[in-house]
Amino acid sequence: MARIVCHHLVLPLKSSSSILLRSNKSLQYCPNLLIETSHLVGFRRRFSTAKISMSLKAGIVGLPNVGKSTLFNAVVENGKAQAANFPFCTIEPNVGVVAVPDHRLHVLSDLSKSKRAVPASIEFVDIAGLVKGASQGEGLGNKFLSHIREVDSILQVVRCFEDNDIVHVNGKVDPKSDIDVINLELIFSDLDQIEKRLEKLKKSKVKDSQTKVKEESEKSALELVQEALVDGKPARSVPLKDYEKDAIKHLCLLTMKPIIYVANVAESDLAVPESNTYVKEVMNLASELQSGLVTISAQVESELTELPSDERTEYLKSLGVDESGLGNLIRETYSLLGLQTYFTSGEKETKAWTILAGMTAPQAAGVIHSDFEKGFIRAETVAYNDFVAAGSLAAAREKGLLRSEGKDYVVKEGDVMLFRFNV
Ligand code: GDP
Repeated sequence: MARIVCHHLVLPLKSSSSILLRSNKSLQYCPNLLIETSHLVGFRRRFSTAKISMSLKAGIVGLPNVGKSTLFNAVVENGKAQAANFPFCTIEPNVGVVAVPDHRLHVLSDLSKSKRAVPASIEFVDIAGLVKGASQGEGLGNKFLSHIREVDSILQVVRCFEDNDIVHVNGKVDPKSDIDVINLELIFSDLDQIEKRLEKLKKSKVKDSQTKVKEESEKSALELVQEALVDGKPARSVPLKDYEKDAIKHLCLLTMKPIIYVANVAESDLAVPESNTYVKEVMNLASELQSGLVTISAQVESELTELPSDERTEYLKSLGVDESGLGNLIRETYSLLGLQTYFTSGEKETKAWTILAGMTAPQAAGVIHSDFEKGFIRAETVAYNDFVAAGSLAAAREKGLLRSEGKDYVVKEGDVMLFRFNV
C-alpha cells in the first residue's frame, strides 16, 4: 500500500487510487492532492491534534509588567482571525500562531486559481514566570527555563514606555538592567548544565576511538563556552567550528539561541523610535550581544486587533507607520534565523514553506514530510519571477523555465517546487 501525505498527515492510500500520479510507485507531490482529502470531515476531527509542521517557535520572555501579555494576546487575536488558514493547527493556551506576511503567496494563488492560500507561520510561545533567581528555582524557575529550551528563538520584551500607573518590577524603567537580569538567568542555567555535562564526560569510560574523539571535541567546546559564560558572554558569541557546534547541540544551551529584543514603546514613539533614549540603549546592547531589535507598541498591536481590517491601515498611518509591529517582528525573526521561503502551488492550494537558507531540494521536501526526503527522486522547479512572467506552471514548462533538479540542488528564495519521490 502506498501512502500519500495529506497536510502533514500520512494517509494510507490504495495504489490503484486515482490520485496517484504517473505510476503506483512514484508519487508526485502536488498541492492539488492535499485537498482531495479536505472533505473528510471525520478524518479531520480524528486528527485535529496534528500540528503545523516546521512552524517556527519563538518564545516571548521578559520581566513582569513590560507588556508581554499585551503582545501575546494581540498575537492570539491575530491568529484567531487567520484560523481558517490553519485548519489542522491546535492552539494551546500559551501558543499563538501568526501567518508570515508574503504578497507572493497571493500572486501565485491567483495565477494558479488556487482554492486557498496557506501562509508559512510562526508560533509565539508565552513563557511566563521569569523573575530574578529563576535559575535557582525562583518563580516558575526551572519550568520556565525548560520551556525556553524548546523554542528556536527568544523574543525578550523590554519596557521602553513610561507610565507611572504601571509599576516597574525594579522601581524604574531601565532596559539595561532588564536585559542583564534575563541574560544572567540564562547564563546561570547554561553554566549549571555545562558543569554537569563536563562532570559526566570526565567519568566517561568509553573505549572506542570514534566516541572518544567526539567526546573530546564536546569537552573542549564546552570549556570554551564555559569561559565565555563566566565572563558574562552568551554561548552564541563563541566562534565554534561546525563540528564543535554539533557536538554540544544536544544540550540546547539557552544562550546559544538567537535573541530579538522587542522594545515596547509608547504609541507616540512609534514613528521615530530612536528619539526614545531607552530604545537607543536597547539598540546598543542588541548590537553588543549580536542580537536583533524590533520596536513595537504592544498597546497598539492590541488595539489593532479590535479594529476592522479596513481601518487598521488608517490607524497605523495616523501614528506615522506603514505596518503593524508584528510584521516587522516576523521579518526580523526570519532574517536572524537565516530562513527563507519556497512555494508549492496548484489549483487546490498555494502554500508557503519555511526552510533554512542552504537547504537542498530533498531537505526542503522533508519539511513537507520526511517520506518526501527519504524517497526523493527529483524536483521540478521554477523561480518565482519566471512563474509570474509565464503566468502558470504549464506555461513555464512550455517555455522551458521549469527545471528538473536533483538531490544536490540548493533551493533558492521564492522557488516554486513540485517534488517527485518514491514511497
Ligand atoms: P506583562 O506582565 O509583561 O505580561 O505585562 P502586561 O502585558 O500585563 O502589561 C502590564 C501593563 O502595562 C498593562 O496594564 C498594559 O496595559 C500596560 N502596557 C503594555 N504595553 C504598554 C504600552 O506600550 N504602553 C503603555 N502605556 N502601557 C502598556
